Formats: sequence, structure tokens, C-alpha cells
Amino acid sequence: MRRLLLLAALALTAVAATATVNAQPSTKRWICHKADENKYVAIRVSSRAQLRGHLRHGDISAGVPQTRATARAFCKALTITPARGGRRTDATLTPVAPNTSGGGSFTFRAAQGRETLCWTLTVQNLAAAAGAVTMAHIHGPLPSTAIFIGLTLSPTQLTTLNASLSSTGRATVSGCETVERAKVRQLLRNLDDFYVNVHTTAFPDGALQAALAP
Ligand SMILES: [Zn+2]
Repeated sequence: MRRLLLLAALALTAVAATATVNAQPSTKRWICHKADENKYVAIRVSSRAQLRGHLRHGDISAGVPQTRATARAFCKALTITPARGGRRTDATLTPVAPNTSGGGSFTFRAAQGRETLCWTLTVQNLAAAAGAVTMAHIHGPLPSTAIFIGLTLSPTQLTTLNASLSSTGRATVSGCETVERAKVRQLLRNLDDFYVNVHTTAFPDGALQAALAP
């Protein structure tokens, strides 16, 4: 009986293996070809050598997508924007002494092995005495601030942000940065050693801060 079961198991394994090979020939697969740092497009490779070449230059092969459509969806998900993709981290901004007003939120998206970090910053109820927002950074890992990721706020974005803050008491800006892979890795691995700092004219060392946490 035991032998019969063993034979049956072996037969099933053989069938399963055959089915896998037929459905997904290892030499022809859809992968996400890295068109630029934050853009992946589905392409089909037909040899192992080709596949190796693509993977070497940063392409991503997550298993073997069954169809062109599923591969396309997978590649699309790899693209990080302020609104989607990557791993999302949310944090709450609070006033940091000697500032006593304002708050808001900070969200960013990033992924291990990638060089893109996209973020959304909302500032609200900042008193006029705090002045205008000038810069925002991610700092860490505490107690050091050796890693310093600047959030690019263009002059236009800053003008819009500060105008909206003084007229409606609330402003949201977003953007994406290119950040070295090693920094992204350290940030994601040690999130609670990092914080976000929003600087203003009256509080150049920081008016609002948010501790990051997984
Ligand atoms: Zn490629």
C-alpha cells in the first residue's frame, strides 16, 4: 500500500512538472524591461542568455507572468508615483519647539532595489509667525543625520504652497526624487530611525517634524 501511494505521488509529481513546463517554457517569458529608472515595460525574452542580459541591467522578472496583459499590469505596478506603487509609509507632522503651530501629514512610497522615492506633503494651520515654508527633508538614521534626502520643492511649488497655506490654512504638494539604492535600503530597513523635517523662514532648523515608523 505504501509503495502504491509512493508510485501515485511520483506520477502526480511528473504530471505537475510536465504541466508547468508546457505552460511556462523557461526560455520564453515576459519580463519587465527597465526603460528608465522609474519606467518598466513588458517584453518577451526567448533565451536564457537574453534573460540574463536583461536582468543584469536592472530588469525584473517576478515569476513568469502568463500573458502579456498580466506582465503589463505587473510592470505598471513597479512604477512608483506619489499615489501608487512601492511600499507606503505615512507619518504625522507636529510642531517642533520653539514653533507651536501647525501640523499635517507626510506620505512616501519607495521600494527596495529601486532608486525612486515619491512623496506627498500636507501642511496645515501654520501660524503666520512661523513664516513661509522653505524646504523639507528626510533625516537620519538617528542619532546621526548622515542620510539626508531632500524633497525637491520648486520655486513654483513653494509659492503655491505658501499662498494656499495663508489663504486656506492648508496646502498639499507632491513629487518624486532619485535616491541612491543604498539610502533607500537603509531608510526602509530602519524607518523608525528617520524623521521628516519641514523648515520655514522663522524656524530654519525645522518648524514641523514627523517621526517615521513602519
Ligand atoms: Zn532589458
